[in-house]
Amino acid sequence: MADHDVDLFVIGGGSGGVRAARVAAGYGARVMVAEEYRVGGTCVIRGCVPKKLLVYAARFADAFEDAAGYGWEMSKPVLAWPALVANVAREVARLEAAYTHTLERFNVAVVKSRAVLEDAHTVRLLATGARVRAETILIATGASPHYGPAIPGLQHVITSNEAFHLPTLPRRLLIQGGGYIAMEFASIFAGLGSAVTVVYRGDNILRGFDDDVRTHVRDEMRKRGISIICGRTVAAVTKSGEEFAVRLSDGATITVDKVMFAIGRRPNTAQLGLEALDIRLQRHGGIEVDAFSRTSVPHIYAVGDVTDRVNLTPVAIREGQAFADTVFGGKPTPVDHSNVPTAVFSEPEVGVVGLTEAQARERHGKLDVYKTAFRPMKATLSGRDTRVLMKLVVESSTDRILGCHIVGAEAAEMIQLVGVAVKMGATKADFDATMALHPTAAEELVTMREKQTSLARAAAE
Ligand code: FAD
Ligand code: NDP
Repeated sequence: MADHDVDLFVIGGGSGGVRAARVAAGYGARVMVAEEYRVGGTCVIRGCVPKKLLVYAARFADAFEDAAGYGWEMSKPVLAWPALVANVAREVARLEAAYTHTLERFNVAVVKSRAVLEDAHTVRLLATGARVRAETILIATGASPHYGPAIPGLQHVITSNEAFHLPTLPRRLLIQGGGYIAMEFASIFAGLGSAVTVVYRGDNILRGFDDDVRTHVRDEMRKRGISIICGRTVAAVTKSGEEFAVRLSDGATITVDKVMFAIGRRPNTAQLGLEALDIRLQRHGGIEVDAFSRTSVPHIYAVGDVTDRVNLTPVAIREGQAFADTVFGGKPTPVDHSNVPTAVFSEPEVGVVGLTEAQARERHGKLDVYKTAFRPMKATLSGRDTRVLMKLVVESSTDRILGCHIVGAEAAEMIQLVGVAVKMGATKADFDATMALHPTAAEELVTMREKQTSLARAAAE
């Protein structure tokens, strides 16, 4: 130990790195964290937190519209985009300071610098050139937006990183992608008043989600005026004055004020010094780790998005905690990545835990599927044309709930709690035995009695 400056060096002060550093320091380790941008990482600075604040902002549009049916009279509300951007930035700065303060309270040394590995025990800080010797190293460098193959005009394209800082709200926005970020930002900007076009390369958005969810979200988003073009990609972007002409793969051109790509993220593993150390990478550059987040070099670990396992904040935090418990707390703790609840904060919102119907059928064979699509009570007086979707995927032989899928208001809040039941191995009979809470949308989850035959299921049988 004597020839080490610190017991643990953490590269990256995001969700995973901050948790690991704080917990390891709590166990008595001497810890240093290097952060090249802003402490808090993607989630706090340009991910979950500012995104959710924009989601809240966008949803006021519906509330204003729906209020009329409930007797409210008001003049047309106007959005002050610069005020919204400034308020979000202020909250992000507050959180950044709080994270830094917490680390300092635990005696973690925080260095504002890019850090790279020089050898298996030495980290070099690029800001000063200083070298720090560490007994254990944790790589928690996260991921960055992917731009895809080179196309003409790619330099005009923004990603979610820039979307939080636009000087004006784009009147017309084109987003390429069909995943989490594309759907969330399409809904945000449409809610705030932009005319939004989504261009997606496949045949339906949200690949990886249950087919009924994908179709329901697509149809609901279209009802809200978002244009979703499938089976096309962006081929070129040409700037003309303040506008951009976007040429699609079929030759069609769409003129907009901003073009955003949300086509996935790639682990931050380039120019980190990994090659020389023989740290094994997998597809897309993610660091290969075992169940304890250990890399192919025994005293070097990696957590969070840089490992490209389940790229969500609570997972990065859990991995950081488990790493610290394992290495510094004497409690070997693997992370269980099954049944992780997840939400897409689109409009309508998606909340999911467990398997899609197709995954469940492939892994478990015979299923019972319960499904309902209904008009939420709030929409009766508002007159809004919208439906909520709920679906339970149940293993026939055991009655165990394998998957729960919700599309509609508060789906994320609901799925967090359904997640507890699913993690505990709840059966459909357990759901049925639970008294409904009336009047709620969630009560439908415990009152679905009739087995459904979905289109996908009918096709499969
Ligand atoms: P990060 O939080 O990305 O932290 C990595 C840090 O390392 C960064 O601060 C980076 O600057 C720093 N760094 C990188 N290289 C170096 C280096 N060489 N030296 C020093 N510092 C370095 N997840 C959810 O669960 N819910 C959501 O609602 C959600 N919304 C999202 C919205 C958007 C727009 C995006 C982009 C992501 C969202 N995510 C969400 C995903 C979530 O943000 C990530 O899964 C999470 O931040 C991963 O944490 P991490 O610690 O692995 O990496
Ligand atoms: P996703 O992986 O969710 O979606 C990427 C999308 O881009 C897919 O539709 C994909 O298509 C498409 N795509 C990929 N490559 C290309 C290409 N070369 N040309 C055209 N389209 C392409 O990534 P996101 O960027 O939306 O988000 C990254 C991750 O961040 C998420 O997966 C999630 O883990 C996390 N996140 C979580 C959030 C939450 O919890 N609410 C919110 C935001 C992000 P295809 O489906 O055909 O592969």
